[in-house]
Amino acid sequence: MSDQYYQQPQQPITQPTPERRPILAIRGINKIYHQGEREIHVLKGISADIFKGEAIALVGPSGSGKSSLLHILGLLDKADEGKVYLNGHDCTDFNDQERTKMRRSDIGFVYQFHQLLPEFSALENVVIPQLINGHSRKDAVSRAKVILEFLGLSDRIKHRPNAMSGGEQQRVAIARAIANEPTLLLADEPTGNLDPNTAERVFQSLMGLIRQTGLAAIIATHNMELASRMDRVLQLQDGQLYSHTPQHKMQEQQ
Ligand code: ADP
Ligand code: MG
Repeated sequence: MSDQYYQQPQQPITQPTPERRPILAIRGINKIYHQGEREIHVLKGISADIFKGEAIALVGPSGSGKSSLLHILGLLDKADEGKVYLNGHDCTDFNDQERTKMRRSDIGFVYQFHQLLPEFSALENVVIPQLINGHSRKDAVSRAKVILEFLGLSDRIKHRPNAMSGGEQQRVAIARAIANEPTLLLADEPTGNLDPNTAERVFQSLMGLIRQTGLAAIIATHNMELASRMDRVLQLQDGQLYSHTPQHKMQEQQ
């Protein structure tokens, strides 16, 4: 993603043509938790392909396994069975070091609670992951400013998280997640803790970024209205994953 994209936020946002090469492919994912004597079989042989430029909603009742699945896709947790391919790499048997490296370069994660570093400014929160990934401070600062500007936060770059609103904090968390130009963005109920107007603003920022960058994104949400505005809805139910095409996409395809 070139910085040029961010310098033209006023351009109409157009749908990128997705290349039909999956950024992420999963096959036969099983996840079982053991709670004392009890076994909770959360994911029962799930498979899916996620393509470049796709904005995908991950929905399902509380406890259906959305977070578990996102953690496996984000290489933060391992499945008990099944394969995870990211950008053509089979990550299933990666060791911790390989997983960390892949995560830093290819995956961005946004949580429900922003988890920003409280003692650092918005700018530093976006700069630090880039420094960890080996970028020079000059490049990291310049890129952080461009992303924060794109997300409408130019006048907040020196603020610490506790001096910002919930929506602003969450937009900084999104900026941090994409700082290293990942190809896959995973978000776990990123608007779940926000009032409806703020949620809408954060959602629009997120969609704007996905459209501008061609990222693939999977966004867990309870909000069916937001889900219906994405490209595809993946629904978790009783350990199975179902794919739905929202109404607006069906009309587009006709
Ligand atoms: P969701 O994000 O859809 O609410 P989760 O993935 O958090 O669902 O949880 C799915 C199920 O797995 C729940 O029943 C939850 O209690 C259980 N679970 C999640 N994480 C763990 C864990 N680390 N240990 C044991 N059980 C867990
Ligand atoms: Mg969850």
